[in-house]
Amino acid sequence: MRQGPAGGAFVIDLSFDHVGNAFLDLFLANKVSIPELANVRYYIEPEVASLAALNATEEDKKRLMDAQEEEFLTVTTTTARITKFQKVHHVIAESCQNHFYEAISKSMLRLTYEVVEAVDPDHEALHMPGEHRHIIEAVLDADSEAARKAMQIHMQKFCKSLLEMETAYRKKTGIELDSGN
Ligand SMILES: [Zn+2]
Repeated sequence: MRQGPAGGAFVIDLSFDHVGNAFLDLFLANKVSIPELANVRYYIEPEVASLAALNATEEDKKRLMDAQEEEFLTVTTTTARITKFQKVHHVIAESCQNHFYEAISKSMLRLTYEVVEAVDPDHEALHMPGEHRHIIEAVLDADSEAARKAMQIHMQKFCKSLLEMETAYRKKTGIELDSGN
């Protein structure tokens, strides 16, 4: 609350992070499921990639190339591994120039992080360095259709793995999906 003549109820520091936090809370409370998450990523990310190809700035493109290089660095922890592979997805979300898409993408990445960290699957099978190469090349070439296609192919593989983690995730966290919401 802010007092004074211009007072009233304000949401302090309103940012798109709130969207991510809200989705994370819903996810942890079992109000949204992993299949729902996979489905949204499968449809949203190709669109976001195609927009990134149209709208990425030179700075965005530089960050994409840096993120790609980072994928090849050796890391020892699960969190560092997830972070390095999500980097490209984050930069693409930030490059699409649509704040809704950016917020949704980042929220979904956060939920994905939660699942992968909890399950700690075979990371080599889940995601390999260089898997974003075609997506990045298409964004650098400003080829929106190629970016969409490349992300679709990537999401087909990744979301399948994500779905396979559903059971392991439920087991690990000991929570059943609340279908009566
Ligand atoms: Zn990826």
